[in-house]
Amino acid sequence: MTSPAIGASGADALPDYAPIPPSALGPALNDQGYAVGRVERNLYWVTDGTYQAAFLTTPDGVVLFDAPPTIGHNLQRAIDEIATAEGVSNQVTHLVYSHHHDDHVGAASLFDPAVVRVGHEETRRLLLRDNEPAKPAPEVTFSDRYTLEVAGERVELAWHGPNHSPDNIFIHFPDHDALMLIDIVNAGWVPIYNLNLSEDVPGYLQAPATALSYPWTHFIGGHLGRLGTRDDISLHQQYIADIQAGAREALGTVDPTPYFVKYGENVWAAVKGYLDELTDRAAKPVIAKYTGVLAAADVEVFTTTTTFMILQSMRLDLGPSAPLHP
Ligand SMILES: [Zn+2]
Repeated sequence: MTSPAIGASGADALPDYAPIPPSALGPALNDQGYAVGRVERNLYWVTDGTYQAAFLTTPDGVVLFDAPPTIGHNLQRAIDEIATAEGVSNQVTHLVYSHHHDDHVGAASLFDPAVVRVGHEETRRLLLRDNEPAKPAPEVTFSDRYTLEVAGERVELAWHGPNHSPDNIFIHFPDHDALMLIDIVNAGWVPIYNLNLSEDVPGYLQAPATALSYPWTHFIGGHLGRLGTRDDISLHQQYIADIQAGAREALGTVDPTPYFVKYGENVWAAVKGYLDELTDRAAKPVIAKYTGVLAAADVEVFTTTTTFMILQSMRLDLGPSAPLHP
């Protein structure tokens, strides 16, 4: 895990939070700052405590799934460690991109230019748009489904519509009992700001159910220090369902009138007061319920901004957004 440059005296002034539930934590990192472990058979995962990637060893080389820059050169170190122990090739021959975000693929250029890069067609479009040498666009692309076969190993890639990002895909390992889906469910932890910085709220809300529609036991979510389980997905769904219930209740009960009376012609001040009250009303019981259950649930701004996004999606995607003028 990276430590921001902050003096000890500065740290003393920062707020305290509830202890992290032990269930949220993963294996200890080694001296180089990573942990690598087996998911199942020849599928492995690697973490720096904050980010996760995965790789599949085969007789013909290694298939790498994501290349977070925070893990960076530790990706090859982790692969070397496993390849040596298992007596297989450490050569990365394929790199699969979960989505175009730099924090998950920003170390893609560390690998041989001849590596076969695989991703969704929208990932390619967005990376070509962004034109960053650190993230060469995938050459092998697909629109809905793609079966990646390497040396007899099979991986099923699928795009089920936009969610966290427009291009985020489901990576299913049918022969390894595993699913990789990045930036949707943080196993043991709440989503960060704004529903894990998601662009499509209805798509994000649907994604966990789609994940559960696949058969798997091991979940690679892309963040924090441990793998997930089906129970982690269910707990996340319950957290979101509680926010939705609170948001519905608040929309039905909070009266905006006092804000408009108070602020008169400053309509935006009234809107702010009203939306903030809705958000607080919905978020507060959820923060209380999940503190000690999901790590960082008491980092209020995460649940609050996530609640704000869900509230706005209820108003704007589903409606009604406001009473109909007679
Ligand atoms: Zn992302």
